[in-house]
Amino acid sequence: MSLFQNAQFFTTVNHLEDLPDTQAEIAFVGRSNAGKSSAINTLCNHVRLAYVSKTPGRTQHINYFQLANGHFMVDLPGYGYAQVPEAVRTHWVKLLGDYLQTRQQIIGLVLIMDARHPLKDLDKQMLDFFALTGKPVHILLSKSDKLSKNEQIKTLAAVKKQLQPFAERQALSVQLFSSLKKQGIDEVEHTVAQWFAQ
Ligand code: GDP
Repeated sequence: MSLFQNAQFFTTVNHLEDLPDTQAEIAFVGRSNAGKSSAINTLCNHVRLAYVSKTPGRTQHINYFQLANGHFMVDLPGYGYAQVPEAVRTHWVKLLGDYLQTRQQIIGLVLIMDARHPLKDLDKQMLDFFALTGKPVHILLSKSDKLSKNEQIKTLAAVKKQLQPFAERQALSVQLFSSLKKQGIDEVEHTVAQWFAQ
C-alpha cells in the first residue's frame, strides 16, 4: 500500500516543546513558495491536506500528518520569505535548525527546492544543520514542469554536482518533481519507504 495515500491530518504545533509523542517522522522543509504544500498534497493525492499559500510565509505552524504505516510526515514552515520581519525569519530559521538537529524521531529529511532556483543559501544552511545528524536527505527539484526536458536533465546534473561536498557527510539523493504533472511520486515513495524499512 502507498505510504502517502490517505495520509490524515494529525495535529498543528507552534512550539518545539509541544511536538507530539511519535516514534518516527519524516520532515518536509523548503523555502517559502518552493512548492512544499503542493508536493505534500500531490504525494497524498489530496487537494487540500497541506495549505497552498496565497500569502507565502504566513503560516508558521508545524503540521503533522499520519501516514499509512502509522508514522508521521511533518510539514515545517517555509523559510526565506523576504516580507516577513527579519527578527521573525531569524527566529524560525533557528527553530528549524533546533528541530532538525535535536529531534531524535526524524528518520530523514525531504528538502523541496524550486528547480529553477536550487540550492539557495538557506537551503545549504538547512543541509548544514541536518548534516550533523548523519541522517539521509532526499531533495525534490519542484515545479520541474517549468523547465524543458533538456533543462531538467542539466539542472539535475548541476545540482548533483553541487551537492557532492554535502554527500560526503550523509546519504543524499535528488530527483525532479512536479505537482502539476504528477511527476516523481513513485521515486519519493520508494526513497521514504526505504528509510522506514531501515
Ligand atoms: P510552499 O510555500 O512551498 O508550500 O509552496 P506552494 O505549494 O504553496 O506553491 C507555491 C506556488 O507554486 C503556488 O502558486 C503553486 O500553485 C505553485 N506550484 C507548486 N507546485 C507546482 C508545480 O509542480 N508546477 C507549477 N507549475 N507550479 C507549482
